[in-house]
Amino acid sequence: MATKNPRSNGCVLCRRGAKMVLFVTGRCHRACWYCPLSRERKGRDVVYANERRVADPSDIIEEARCMGALGTGITGGEPLLELDRVVGYCTRLKDTFGSEHQIHLYTGMAPDGETLVRLRGLVDEIRLHPPPECWPRILESDYARSAVAARRMGFSIGIEVPALPGIEDLAAALPLLDFLNINELEWGETCAAAMRERGLEPEDGLHNAVKGSRRWAERLCGDPKVHWCSSVFKDSVQLRERLKRTAANTARPFDEVTDDGTVVYGVIEPKCPIDALLPLLEEGEFEDCGDRIEVAWWVLVDRGDELPGTKYIVERYPNGGMIVEVTPL
Ligand code: SF4
Repeated sequence: MATKNPRSNGCVLCRRGAKMVLFVTGRCHRACWYCPLSRERKGRDVVYANERRVADPSDIIEEARCMGALGTGITGGEPLLELDRVVGYCTRLKDTFGSEHQIHLYTGMAPDGETLVRLRGLVDEIRLHPPPECWPRILESDYARSAVAARRMGFSIGIEVPALPGIEDLAAALPLLDFLNINELEWGETCAAAMRERGLEPEDGLHNAVKGSRRWAERLCGDPKVHWCSSVFKDSVQLRERLKRTAANTARPFDEVTDDGTVVYGVIEPKCPIDALLPLLEEGEFEDCGDRIEVAWWVLVDRGDELPGTKYIVERYPNGGMIVEVTPL
């Protein structure tokens, strides 16, 4: 679980599931061995708002509305390789939802003065990700210079890195920062081989956490500016709260919303013309989807015999998201 240390504003909203994740590009100038990006995103110039593929900036606004976002976390790849894109999206988000829509930017670069000027007023919080090679000399690095300049310009500034051996070297940078976020190191499909080469292994078969990661960060976690973000917290609190917000805004009257924020409904693929079945259903308990009827799941359980066709129950992420389970009846 997260520590009791004070969090950045971005983290507070994240805990409430109120932060949209805006992935602005999968391109990156670095090649971190622990990079957690999936095959679908790594190295590809694609944009996602949460899990929604973005074809037009209006998709971002639509996704933010669906989940009732109070803020946005900009990530990648390396977002600053697409600075114009970042500026354009942030401008649109602030114009639509107001300046109080909190935006944090995660970057592996050390933004210079010119870049910071372009981000001022659009990005509230910057999370620098210096590479582990520069941690032992962090105060002599461009990241330290960037942190000082950003803080002077009014940004909330922090470092956000995965827990790796040697992370204690970052203690030297704490006086320059508002926060230091440490993410539990996570096992991923594209970095599994590099992890094995280093003798690392997953904590268990259920979670993505890498065994021992917490231990490397333990001493730093006593500092009030340090916030530990566990893999379980990301999966079970952050994601669940976001799904619940989206479900609250988008579920149909007959969708059952679970404690995990998923929605459950029944489906009939009729063997007769759909119009013949509709009079058997009550208003508000179904939707005619053309080739099938989506209906309250309990209608199928209670009265399935009266409704000829292939019937099953679907559990999925809200707003047409990922299917979790299909149970045939
Ligand atoms: S900076 Fe981030 S996106 Fe780029 S390679 Fe490293 S972990 Fe991956």
